[in-house]
Amino acid sequence: MLADCHMHTPLCGHARGETTEYVRAAAERGIDLITVTCHVPMPNEGFGQRGIRMRAEQLGEYRSMVSEAQELGREVGVTVLCGIEAEVFPRESELVAMDRILAEQQFDYVLGSLHHPMPVYRSLLHSEGVHAQDAIVRRYFEDLAAGAESGRYHSLAHPDLIRIYGTVDPFDPVEYEDEIRRFLERVRDAGVSLEVNTSGLTKELYEIHPAPVIIQWAAELGVSFTLGSDAHGPHSVGQFFEDAVRLLGQSGVQQYRYYRNGEAVISDLPLVEAGRP
Ligand SMILES: [Zn+2]
Ligand SMILES: [Zn+2]
Repeated sequence: MLADCHMHTPLCGHARGETTEYVRAAAERGIDLITVTCHVPMPNEGFGQRGIRMRAEQLGEYRSMVSEAQELGREVGVTVLCGIEAEVFPRESELVAMDRILAEQQFDYVLGSLHHPMPVYRSLLHSEGVHAQDAIVRRYFEDLAAGAESGRYHSLAHPDLIRIYGTVDPFDPVEYEDEIRRFLERVRDAGVSLEVNTSGLTKELYEIHPAPVIIQWAAELGVSFTLGSDAHGPHSVGQFFEDAVRLLGQSGVQQYRYYRNGEAVISDLPLVEAGRP
């Protein structure tokens, strides 16, 4: 059984296609379960507003879109769950409104993302004098680990996003092996999963998030995984899942997770045929 637990809706303003089209795409590609995880509303402009995320007043509409998708899912054999892509941020005061939404909505699944290019994060780094490449990379993994320990999130989305989008120069994760392993231990000890996000294969480094070597370290340390395409259009649902499954298998991982009503459900990874590239 395959679950794609990261995808968007037109409400965020930068994704295309009706949620029902994502369901049809999942059915065509043999994806058994999808979790819709659009970007959570955030009142502070520094997190990006128009074109980045829905407004709090649109949460009702979001729920109806997912309900409609669930109805179609029942017809075509795809389970549809309602999640959210929430923000990880090191200042709790910025997360009060988001926490209220998470408490009220009781989503099946809460993804935690630290979108480091957001003006609010870059200005925080600036105001705290975090300028050097090394210091920024360490700080990013520190903030993400603290996010895992906050208890808000079930899984951390695209965990090595800091490697792209220009906050720092591209780097090889091996240069930060100690820091990243410590981060992974904290994620594991917090009981939080790590997302294997296949959208990385369409972006700057054309590499899966997190990089294969980080998947290997996480597997060695016993971190649990979730799978997400981060689809912003129906054509991307389940994109490159065979690569994700193969990479996990090569790292000795046999199971992954999805979340329903906030509870982890453990599922066997499909076997990739031997000899396939
Ligand atoms: Zn997005
Ligand atoms: Zn996303």
